[in-house]
Amino acid sequence: MKERWSEPAPELAAGPRPNVAGMNLEQLRALVASLGESPFRAAQIHQGLYQQRWTHWAQFSSLSKTLRAALEARTRLLWPELRESVASEDGSTKHAFLLEDGSLVEGVHMPYGDRTTLCLSSQVGCAMGCTFCATGLMGIKRNLTAGEITGQVVTMLNAHCHPPGAPVNLVFMGMGEPLHNIGNVMAAFALLTDPKGLGLSPRRITLSTSGLVSGIQRLAGYPRRPRLALSLNATTDAYRDRIMPVNKAWNLAALAAALRAFPLEHGERITLEYVLLKGVTDSLEDGRRLASFAGQFPSKVNLIPFNPHEGSGFEPPAEARIGELCGLLAARGVTVSVRRSRGQDVAGACGQLVRGIE
Ligand code: SAH
Ligand code: SF4
Repeated sequence: MKERWSEPAPELAAGPRPNVAGMNLEQLRALVASLGESPFRAAQIHQGLYQQRWTHWAQFSSLSKTLRAALEARTRLLWPELRESVASEDGSTKHAFLLEDGSLVEGVHMPYGDRTTLCLSSQVGCAMGCTFCATGLMGIKRNLTAGEITGQVVTMLNAHCHPPGAPVNLVFMGMGEPLHNIGNVMAAFALLTDPKGLGLSPRRITLSTSGLVSGIQRLAGYPRRPRLALSLNATTDAYRDRIMPVNKAWNLAALAAALRAFPLEHGERITLEYVLLKGVTDSLEDGRRLASFAGQFPSKVNLIPFNPHEGSGFEPPAEARIGELCGLLAARGVTVSVRRSRGQDVAGACGQLVRGIE
């Protein structure tokens, strides 16, 4: 049987008029040329979209009224729309975005001191079918476009009134498997890191994958790319097969080989995310095997206590066990941190806000 992730995911059907939100400079040049305008108008539109984060043609005051009217008539300027926002006691806010075809995806705004981290979705649903994950239970609907990925950033920064240029980190840890949508994710990465656009630092963008080895190999070939995080989540093939079906295509040995071959910059490390499921992945033996997996390449480990959601059948680990595993890893020279999922009081695991609305 062909696995769902070995087929490309469906794409958004083309709308009646092209959507400029998400176009790069080249695409904007072609658009203004088709309207009989000079190329520097494209740069002005680009700046308005990605530096000013404008959302309506009326804001593009440097363009003539005639051009604005032509753009209004011939194109759409459509960013993802905020459908619901839920603030958590810890300061983070979960946002549900409504997309033009009625799909919903999630993003999270997390202010930490003087830095803000945004968690982004890459697909509507997910094809990977991990059994502990709320999004995995939804199945895959489609890929997000580059504009919808970039638009989550634009919409969240606008909603939280971020001044242009303020430091922002991005993590692709919302809904979807980003390497199953690598083309659109990397097109969004280019828009997000363009110094003449949103101007975010490539080093502050992290892509998290469930271990799609073909995608990891493709990512390695990009001259500019985000940092890599791998959702390891189990330390034996028997258990990883059980909770992450992708492991049947690329097992732990194949994964480790791909990570050892991944070209890292000086000082760069691969993050290993490890979800702790009580009685399944949280034994001390797991801790020892995790340490030896992590020792094969420059890495750091992020332990994530399972975030319970209805119908999953898994439980979070005991607090004492989290501490024991941290100690065991640190004693073996592994850099380890524990991620307390933010926004637990409002929505629990990723994908739950959207499931709640649906
Ligand atoms: N699809 C990508 C990125 C999105 S999932 C990936 O799997 O890496 C982001 C992270 O959340 C992953 O590390 C995943 O293992 C973790 N995760 C999923 N469901 C979870 C849950 N219920 N509790 C805790 N972490 C979860
Ligand atoms: Fe998809 Fe990641 Fe959830 Fe697995 S953990 S189903 S890859 S979103």
